[in-house]
Parts: sequence; structure tokens; C-alpha cells
Amino acid sequence: LESIIASPEVVHYVCKRFGIHMSKKLGQNFLIKRGVVDEIVHAADLNAGEPVLEIGPGIGTLTQGLAQSGADVTAIELDRRLLEVLDTTLAAYDNVRIIHGDVLKLDVPDIMNHKQFKVVANLPYYITTPIIMSLLESRLPIERMVMMVQREVALRMVAKPGTKDYGALSVAVQYYTEPDIVMDVPPKAFLPAPSVTSAVIRCVLRKEPPVDVVDEKLFFRVVKAGFEQRRKTFSNTMKTTGLSKEEIEMILEKANIDGQRRGETFSLQEFADVANAWHSIK
Ligand code: SAM
Repeated sequence: LESIIASPEVVHYVCKRFGIHMSKKLGQNFLIKRGVVDEIVHAADLNAGEPVLEIGPGIGTLTQGLAQSGADVTAIELDRRLLEVLDTTLAAYDNVRIIHGDVLKLDVPDIMNHKQFKVVANLPYYITTPIIMSLLESRLPIERMVMMVQREVALRMVAKPGTKDYGALSVAVQYYTEPDIVMDVPPKAFLPAPSVTSAVIRCVLRKEPPVDVVDEKLFFRVVKAGFEQRRKTFSNTMKTTGLSKEEIEMILEKANIDGQRRGETFSLQEFADVANAWHSIK
């Protein structure tokens, strides 16, 4: 009989037995509700033998659910103290491989044998955005990412133009993926309980970008400029790119965009129109 790791009793017991004090600095909040683990695994839609990367397995609460799906699990954990814990808690599963290191520094494509994979994680909240951006920007062959994040971050990822949550993260996530919020998760689902509500977000990678962009670097420079100073008009914030007033006017006219608007009201298409117009006068 397999005992379930994601329960208050087992998490307490394991931490006590191994003398683990959860590190706030490393964002250690372990899941203690098996129902939440099941929802995450379900959203990942895993098949037997399919490669899946888990970031931050902790003591193996979510890893166990992934292993039980029959997927081929690789989990990257930064905290060396947890390696021997994972060795014990996951001893029953031969389809799990634990790698010690910082997910932001390791060669992930190499670790995943240059195959397509899925990402599933209850992310450490202190580096949520860097992890998501680095996975997206490195253009890894990821099919989808199912991640526990702060609810406020999940709302930013799915936000639409003109809303308060809309920003550079929304544009990047929606450019590369189709995101949707799977469920909200209350603090009491974790040990220790975090101070904020969390959410599980599913981002299915797009095969093609949703808008035509000639030069992606330029596109993301325009997006960055567009959100740089929220109170300013788009014409004004575009000056942060180093373009002259005349050049900006020319670009906006070509793109057929009113520079008096604020960047935070721009759709992906409008950011693309500006970037493509800029590219055409370069
Ligand atoms: N997956 C477990 C769960 O759901 O119960 C633990 C999740 S906990 C929120 C985040 C985990 O990520 C911790 O175990 C932490 O040590 C690990 N971690 C923090 N920074 C990391 C990094 N840069 N690379 C890999 N793992 C990291």
C-alpha cells in the first residue's frame, strides 16, 4: 500500500524525522492536500512514459502524484538537505529521477534529453516570474506548464488589455502560450501556510504566435517600453527606447496608432503593429 505524502500528518512526520525546517528563503511551502495534487496532475494530462519536469519537489508531495501517473519524472531540487528525504519518500517509484541544482542555472534541455516535455511545479514564489520567463524565452520544447503560483501572479498572466493586472508578464505569457486558471488554492493547503492565496495555472504552448512579429526582440522592447511608466502616454514611454520624437511619430503613423493612449491599453496585435513599423524604418 502506498501512503500518501501530501497530508498534514505525513509532511509533519517526514520533516520531524529528517530534522527539516522549511526554509522561507527557498520558498518552501509543502502541499498537504492530496486533492490539490490530483487536480494538478489531471491538468497536466500525463501519459505513461511521457517526460515531465518538476521544479522544486520539496519532500515529494507532488512528485508522488506525477510518479503514480506513470510519466517519466525528472525533478530539480536546489536544497541539498532534501535529497536524502526524497530518496526515502519516493523509494517505491523507479520512474523518478532527482537532480540537485538551481533550475535557473542548469542546462534544462540537456537534462530532458532534448525531447519535448511538460513542466509541472508548485513554484518557489520568490522566483516565479524569472522561472516562467526563462522557460518561455529559451524556447524549450515544452508542451505545457501547469504551475502553482500566487493567485495575484496567475491573474496577471491571464489579464486582458486595459485592466489593472495587464502588464509585460501578461503579454509574454499570452504571446507564447494559452493560459487558463485551473483552480484557486487557499493557504491552508500548504505547510507552512503562505500569507497569500495561490492558484494553479495551465499554460499550453502555442504552435504559432498569435500575432505576426517580424523581430521578436523589437516586439519585447516595445512591450517593455509600453509598461515602463504607466501614467504616461505611449508616445512618451517610447522615448525610453532611445528613439527620437520624429521617429516615434513616424512609427505610430505607420502602425496607425494613437500615441496619446497608454501602453497598458494595447493588445498584442497593437504592440506587434508598432514593432513591425519600427522594424520597417530601421
Ligand atoms: N513540490 C513541493 C510541494 O508541492 O509540496 C515543494 C514546493 S515548494 C513551494 C518549492 C520548492 O522549490 C522547495 O522545495 C525549494 O527548495 C525548491 N527551490 C527553490 N528554489 C529553487 C531553484 N532555484 N531551483 C530548484 N528548486 C528550487
